[in-house]
Amino acid sequence: MASIEHWIAGKLAPGQSGRRADVFNPALGQVSGRVALANAGEVAQAVAAAQAAFPAWADTPPLRRARVMFRFLELLNRYRDDLARMITAEHGKVFTDAQGEVTRGLEIVEFACGIPQLLKGDYTDQVSTGIDNWTMRQPLGVVAGITPFNFPVMVPMWMFPVALAAGNCFILKPSPLDPTPSIRMAELLKEAGLPDGVFSVVQGDKEAVDALIEHPDVKAISFVGSTAIAQKIYETGAKHGKRVQALGGAKNHMVVMPDADMDQAIDALIGSAFGSAGERCMAISVGILVGEAADKIMDKLAERTQALKVKNGTELDAEMGPIVTPAAHQRITGYIAQGETEGAKLLVDGRKFQGAAAGAGCDSGFWLGGTLFDNVRPDMKIYQEEIFGPVLGCMRVKDLKEAVDVINAHEYGNGVSCFTRDGNVAREFGRRVQVGMVGINVPIPVPMAWHGFGGWKKSLFGDMHAYGEEGVRFYTKQKSIMQRWPESISKGAEFVMPTSK
Ligand code: NAD
Repeated sequence: MASIEHWIAGKLAPGQSGRRADVFNPALGQVSGRVALANAGEVAQAVAAAQAAFPAWADTPPLRRARVMFRFLELLNRYRDDLARMITAEHGKVFTDAQGEVTRGLEIVEFACGIPQLLKGDYTDQVSTGIDNWTMRQPLGVVAGITPFNFPVMVPMWMFPVALAAGNCFILKPSPLDPTPSIRMAELLKEAGLPDGVFSVVQGDKEAVDALIEHPDVKAISFVGSTAIAQKIYETGAKHGKRVQALGGAKNHMVVMPDADMDQAIDALIGSAFGSAGERCMAISVGILVGEAADKIMDKLAERTQALKVKNGTELDAEMGPIVTPAAHQRITGYIAQGETEGAKLLVDGRKFQGAAAGAGCDSGFWLGGTLFDNVRPDMKIYQEEIFGPVLGCMRVKDLKEAVDVINAHEYGNGVSCFTRDGNVAREFGRRVQVGMVGINVPIPVPMAWHGFGGWKKSLFGDMHAYGEEGVRFYTKQKSIMQRWPESISKGAEFVMPTSK
């Protein structure tokens, strides 16, 4: 059985708290490892190591920091499949999807390699006679990232490549459900030449998170996870004087207009609702079928949901793997039962799926098939709350306005999509919808590395989106310097507000 430890000051640091949690292989339903859970003392050790490493790292020219990122990028490319296998083993998502996760993370490293350009600053010659003014961006110091189970490689990489390249020291607190890739990433960063202490991993749960948020030397917190915790982290972090970016939960809608290509819309709904077993913050969990679109696609949707290849993620033709934990499985099946009670029409019931059908040894795994509801209404809990599993609920509305009104009334605003052939519908939709990330005929519109990721409403607490230029701003503070030399200084004290002369 594997023991998963912390990574502090450039090496493995065995857990000292005496507390550990089980790590599962969800496909097999077996405990595959035990992860250490840090206490405040262990968090303090990581912060002290980061604090000690900060001055030299912050002073390292951005180009040399970028070169470390380039070497890290090479290593990520070399070991991409190893990382993907680690993800599949602990998260359960299918291997090809895990490869995609590593690639999307790696793209942020590619972005971070351009840090000399991103940190360049502005310069104005002669703001007043003989005076120049420029701005620069400097790192914050020790910063921390707290990440969810559903992307154990990509979401940490939304944060640390930009934070490190900008000159900060970074402490990662990964999800205890799939912690192994965090240590592999730490090893690769060291191999790439990152000085000890600049990147640390503290494994753990609420105790470690609380210690990070309250630690006076931690200057910023990036959090990704469920909304209830995101909101709390945002409030507590702000109370402790920190910069906080807290990305929360989601309920993502996909509108299908009657003029859409129906086969494309069905493919998009099936892939985005059931890929990664619906355990994606950008998964589509609600189909809004406008006018006759519902009658055109409902039967086929049911057929496709029933036909999903639900298999151990190690199988290359698997389309959907298991659910991450027994607790998540129970939550999702609870919602399916709730949907029936609330009067939604259950067309495909994923609870009927048996683990034995997923492959050899899968009988005890945490398995669930795809679930499809029709006639979902806004007053239902299965519509209002995030289920975070392979459950697609469909609603029927009369026109685009009603679709947009429904979406805008929801408390979440992470991602949304509209399938149509009509340019004006697409334009109106994009402009009116109150959601942070919009796809037109694109079901999961996760912005590319240089565009930044973030939802609206209860899907994001804080001002700035993750990665991209917003990420650079989050991890740096602006300084303005105004300078003149004795030759341009006139004699005598000035008592009036200085103005340009
Ligand atoms: P989670 O909120 O349970 O956990 C997230 C992190 O917080 C983990 O590191 C966890 O150990 C820690 N944590 C858990 N309980 C805590 C507590 N009481 N106090 C402090 N920290 C605590 O989320 P999860 O189940 O790992 O991930 C799924 C959730 O994350 C979903 O809601 C999903 O929508 C959301 N998510 C959002 C985005 C986004 O970009 N908006 C991306 C990925 C996931």
